[in-house]
Amino acid sequence: MKKPIIFLIGTMTFCILLPVLISVLFYGKNEISSSESTKNIMKKSEQDKDTYETVDSTSPTITVYNCSTNKTEKMDIETFLYGVVASEMSSDFSEEALKAQAVAARTYIIYKIENNITQGHNGADICTNSNHCQAYASYEELKNKKGDEWMNNSYPKIKQAVDDTKGHILTYDNKAILPLYFSTSSGKTENSEEVFSAQYPYLKSVSSPYEEQSPKYYTEKKINKNDFVNLLKKNYSSISISSENLNNTVKILDRTTAGSVNTIQVGNKKITGRNMRTIFGLNSSNFDLGFNGDTVIFKVKGYGHGVGMSQWGAEGMAQKNYKYDEILFHYYTDTQIKDIY
Ligand SMILES: [Zn+2]
Repeated sequence: MKKPIIFLIGTMTFCILLPVLISVLFYGKNEISSSESTKNIMKKSEQDKDTYETVDSTSPTITVYNCSTNKTEKMDIETFLYGVVASEMSSDFSEEALKAQAVAARTYIIYKIENNITQGHNGADICTNSNHCQAYASYEELKNKKGDEWMNNSYPKIKQAVDDTKGHILTYDNKAILPLYFSTSSGKTENSEEVFSAQYPYLKSVSSPYEEQSPKYYTEKKINKNDFVNLLKKNYSSISISSENLNNTVKILDRTTAGSVNTIQVGNKKITGRNMRTIFGLNSSNFDLGFNGDTVIFKVKGYGHGVGMSQWGAEGMAQKNYKYDEILFHYYTDTQIKDIY
């Protein structure tokens, strides 16, 4: 009779302990549990900004090619970063999202310097063209553009985010990473090799919840069928397509891991999703097509190339009380934060 009792006690203990164990393991920040980066998020959850302070030296001077003045200027990197973060992210975003942006922006500059990438910006370390490097506005430019109220109330928030992370960069294998970022994902980020040709171990597709509040999360673009056909003919002279039976001649062939269109068949041509995005000025290449009478409707998810950190995803995480390092470790797989000055 002893064995059934032991079995009964064992079963009861198991039944009581299991839910406790589950609730302990998954208590709190479990919303991104489907992501591969959960381990990082859990591991770093209680770190504060001072954890990373290891050196305390002055910040370096860098050379900046200013595209609006066509001049190369010498600047303190941290001062330059005030103008970058102010231009790359809304000051309405949470403190932790702004700090994540500051570290990404700083890392981008160090990556260019470490890899001696001076092409395209007149031999300087970095330029102010947002399509080539990162957007930037000087203190005076910000004052003129945004006004005194913004300078008094919002600029200090930007400055604080940069100051709080002074000298902190993201590394992989002890080297600065290429910290790509973009506005809004479709709920998932892209593998770098599926969007650009190069593969980076830290630019992997991860889940990106909390994006819904972004105004660019879902957009529609409507275009007349004739204009649709004419635009394609303008870009592909040998394309054979007619506005008569578009429904049957346009078909999405394959998609990336995160859902962007890889290739689409349009008449006799196979066109990449990225080219479709450029031709029709879509917010991203993650789209579906609908047809309604004379109209073609692009139903677009997200905004930007989709690789690396989603800025709206970072803001969503910050609102869920994630810290800036947790946000960065989530979007940049297996990276670390290093204090370099
Ligand atoms: Zn540049």
